[in-house]
Formats: sequence, structure tokens, C-alpha cells
Amino acid sequence: MGIKLPYGKQQLDESDIEAVVDVLRSDWLTTGPLVARFEEAVAEMVGAGYAVAVSSGTAALHTMLAAVGVGSGDEVIVPAITFAATANAVLYQGGTPVFADIDERDLILSPESVRDRMTPATKAIIAVDYAGQPADYRALYDIANAHGIQLLADACHALGGARGGQKCGALADLTAFSFHPVKPITTGEGGMVTTDDAVLASRMRRFRNHGIATDHVEREKDRTWFYEMVELGHNYRITDMQCALGLSQMKKLPVWLAKRRTLATHYDRLLEEVKNVTPLKVHDHVEHGYHLYVVRIARGLRNAVFKAMRESVIGVHVHYIPVYLHPYYQQHLGFSKGLCPVAERVYDDILTLPLHTGMTPGDVERVVECLRCSLDGMD
Ligand SMILES: *Cc1c(COP(=O)(O)O)cnc(C)c1O
Repeated sequence: MGIKLPYGKQQLDESDIEAVVDVLRSDWLTTGPLVARFEEAVAEMVGAGYAVAVSSGTAALHTMLAAVGVGSGDEVIVPAITFAATANAVLYQGGTPVFADIDERDLILSPESVRDRMTPATKAIIAVDYAGQPADYRALYDIANAHGIQLLADACHALGGARGGQKCGALADLTAFSFHPVKPITTGEGGMVTTDDAVLASRMRRFRNHGIATDHVEREKDRTWFYEMVELGHNYRITDMQCALGLSQMKKLPVWLAKRRTLATHYDRLLEEVKNVTPLKVHDHVEHGYHLYVVRIARGLRNAVFKAMRESVIGVHVHYIPVYLHPYYQQHLGFSKGLCPVAERVYDDILTLPLHTGMTPGDVERVVECLRCSLDGMD
């Protein structure tokens, strides 16, 4: 049986469909004019100088790590609790992911833990804007600047989020976004990196296109067929169909963010009355993207609650297992339990409740009622 209320879901309307169909009738299916237009729309919204669109959020992470020159022997600090792709991208470049712990109140990378993990081999830090809440970039910049290293952001959850008046996409040296269907806007699959650094932006354009030094527009201008591949890149290009969808979805983002915030506030208020459930802390001066609505369930009760809610066809989820506890990380890379005690402890307690733009306040009430019933008589 399908889940009646999934934890996340895309929203598409006729204008999205028409935008994609228009591209199918045009001359350019890929590397056409809509790629640059989508990049400009995102760069302008987040307040970054440049944006480079790629084929997925994972490709965006890989591309930004290649741009800053992460390679063999380099360590990159990542939070223990994130989607595996954050750390996998470091491995793609032959680097070593170093897992730092999180703050149990918000599941965001702890600056103190990052400071503990710094070594002479540390090349970069990737902060994750967990659930849509921007990390503490001010504290992280203090560390990164003191060591002369790059601060990168995995903002795959957080398009439209902000902290201290600055939008995600302009809070770190480079920021990766994802446009997977559960994310704030979708292109089916897709991703983007934003930055203020022109040199890094052009390096990323080359990396997404096999490492070839010029693109077809530049060759057209120079009236030449000649091109040279100057580094080993990838085919991480995004299509014009995807960018048309992204542009169309960008127009709806402000309304969707407002809707997510309203639903989250409704959850916050109703959950005040529910024992054994604690929503994550939201910091002052934060505009939360609310990709996810995550709560902590009292010690030892999470698995039973998860099961009861799934039986009531409420699409609860858990985001995420500490990355280094995945079998690949333990068996092939030698990581083991005990590395990040806070992450390991909080992983047993967290539960993601459904939150997406297709939901109504009534749906939130239904989820909270189900949560209350599931917990009844458990403690
Ligand atoms: C979704 C996600 C990614 C990967 O994005 P894809 O577009 O699915 O490749 C990376 N990091 C985080 C935190 C994500 O949520």
C-alpha cells in the first residue's frame, strides 16, 4: 500500500508543463539558452555573483570540490548527519571525509567539533543546512579563515533560506543546491553551485563539460571547430527541459516557502501539547527553508512510533543515519561506531514528519493526532 501522506512531494502545474513542452519544440534540448537563464535567476535570488547548473545536487557537490582542488591526501570536514552524497563527493575526488559531530538541538554541524577535527591536511569544510536551516557560517568562517581554507555549503535542503539577512547561496565560498523532486523546487534531477568567485565559476563550467576549455558558444564566436580538453572533467550538464522547469518553479518559490513556514508553525504550536516530542531548535535571525520538519522522540520510543505511524499511512521518515555507519563506510573505509557520539545518540530519536506544499493545516492536525495516539501509553 502506498503512503497516503508522503514526507515530501513535488508540486507541478500546467505552467511548468507548458514551459517544458516549449523547449521540446525548440532547437536546443541541452546547452541552450535556458541553462544561463536558470543560472541567472538562482544567482539573483540568492545574491551570488555566479551560478553553474549541473545534472544533480551530487554533481554540484563534486563540481565544487573539484573547483577548490580537493584531491588525494586532502581532508574535508563534513557533518556526521547528512545525506551520504555530501561525503561521497569527497571520495570522488580521492579526498578523505572527516566526520564532525552535530548539535543535538538542531542537528547542525558543531563549530567546536569542527575545530577539534582540523589538521594540517584539512582542505575545506562542508556545512549542511540541515532540514533547511542555515548552519552557523559566522562561527565556521572564524575557523576556516584562521586556517586559510575554504568554507563550502551543502544547501540542498535550503534554497530560499537565510541567516543574518544573507541568503543560502551567499553564506559560504561555494554553495551546492539540489533540484530533486522532494527539494524546495524541482527539475526532476538537477543541481547548481553558486559563488562570487569568477575563476572558480569558470573552472566549474569546464568541469561539467569533460574538462574542455571552451564551450560551443565561444567556438561559434571565434569561428573555429578547435577545442582542447585540459583536465579530466565529466558530463554533468543539465538539459534545457530541466532548466525550463526550474525557471518556472523558481517563480513559485516565495509562495511555497511561506506555505512551508505556516505549516511548520502549525506543527510547532500543536506539538507544544504533545508529551515526549520535541521539535528541533530554530535560531534567531534565521529564515528556515523547512525542507524537512524533524522532531526528537523521547528515548527508546522512536522505532515504535515510526511503525505505528507508517501503519496509519503517515509517511514519516528518518533523516539520516550517521554517514560513516553505512556498510560501505564501515567495511571498505574502516569507520566504526563511537566517532560522533551526539550524532549516534540523536539518530535513535529523530523522526521526520510530512511537510510539503501540497499539505493543508488539516493534514498537520491529522499527523499530530496520529503522533499523539502512537505515543499514548508508551511511557
Ligand atoms: C538531496 C541531497 C543531496 C544530493 O542531491 P541529488 O540532487 O539527489 O544528487 C546532497 N546533500 C543533501 C543534504 C541532500 O539532501
